[in-house]
Amino acid sequence: MRTAFIYSKDFAKSKPPKGHPWLAGRSEVTYELCKRLDLFDRDWVRIYEPKPARSEDLFAFHTSEYIDLLKEANKGISKEEWLRYGLGTTECPVYKGLYDYHALAAGATLLASELIERDEADIVFSPTGGFHHAGKDFAAGFCYINDIVLAAQKWLNHGKRILYIDLDAHHGDQVQAAFYNTSKVMFISFHESPKTLFPFKTGIETEIGQGRGKGYTINVPLLENTTDEEFLWAFEKIFPPVAQSFKPDLVMALLGADVLFSDPFSHLQLTNGSISQAVESILRVSPKLLALGSGGYVLENIARAWTLAWATMNGLGPREEDYMLFGGMFWGDGLSSLKDRPRFVPDSLKEKVKNETNRVVCAIEDNVFPILEIKP
Ligand SMILES: [Zn+2]
Repeated sequence: MRTAFIYSKDFAKSKPPKGHPWLAGRSEVTYELCKRLDLFDRDWVRIYEPKPARSEDLFAFHTSEYIDLLKEANKGISKEEWLRYGLGTTECPVYKGLYDYHALAAGATLLASELIERDEADIVFSPTGGFHHAGKDFAAGFCYINDIVLAAQKWLNHGKRILYIDLDAHHGDQVQAAFYNTSKVMFISFHESPKTLFPFKTGIETEIGQGRGKGYTINVPLLENTTDEEFLWAFEKIFPPVAQSFKPDLVMALLGADVLFSDPFSHLQLTNGSISQAVESILRVSPKLLALGSGGYVLENIARAWTLAWATMNGLGPREEDYMLFGGMFWGDGLSSLKDRPRFVPDSLKEKVKNETNRVVCAIEDNVFPILEIKP
């Protein structure tokens, strides 16, 4: 097994406007914590520095007109007519260096993808990536350039099959839209229900793809207050059988730290242990894995969740007997421990969540599994 971590000091230099929730230091804090816990100094681990994506790489999904606007927006001066491209809103403000940052993030994901394609790595993690709300000619939900679609498109051009698993709190709407009609990309998204979270319009279980893509889109909306127990139950019911039936050449995974109970935007009650357990499950069925960070709005959560995920990708825990590797402590909320404490919700809430999760999983088993020839 060869693993790679994509990191550039330049990410943390980006300065979104004051008060904007995007944390440009996400790669930095993850890199620093992994380093502190000695998770890089292994024979099989390499660290790579990305370069910004070239314009011609971006045209694989985005329009040249939109990319030109982003380049102009890099100067930090907004124009009112850009609002119809989603630029200059509170969500996607225009600020100095925005293109530099997002082109570098796209370059990081493309580098991760190339390392696997060139057979230099089997598992690659690029924390600053996973901008799943960016459309071909518009920005949305803190996302300006859709690095996921760009990387996936390259694999498709070579006739490969991709399984995309999106574990961010928000529905991966623009990745779904890009591949809604194809059977070459298996799209699976677990997210908080659009009834209570952005993007509000998409991500319900009846969206299953169309035309040749029918059955190749799976949405698992989760109710507010969903805990690890319900999430992992649903994940194990859906993900492994679909992956085994689809037989991808590459698995792309988004590991949003905004699913955590302590995230200020979402309303799920997951701990970072469920992200690492999902990663373990993903690794069991992935010939190659490209993992991306995506959302997360508390730096400390990001650092701990993604360090734990990186440890899992490298077979380094978290097992109780490995506790020495992690500074001697597992459970806790501070940076000296990686894994969150278990999380509990009142029985009355739990019952409601269980019933709804069960209903959604049954709907997918009834409507999608037969198309994929999976027996529940
Ligand atoms: Zn998100």
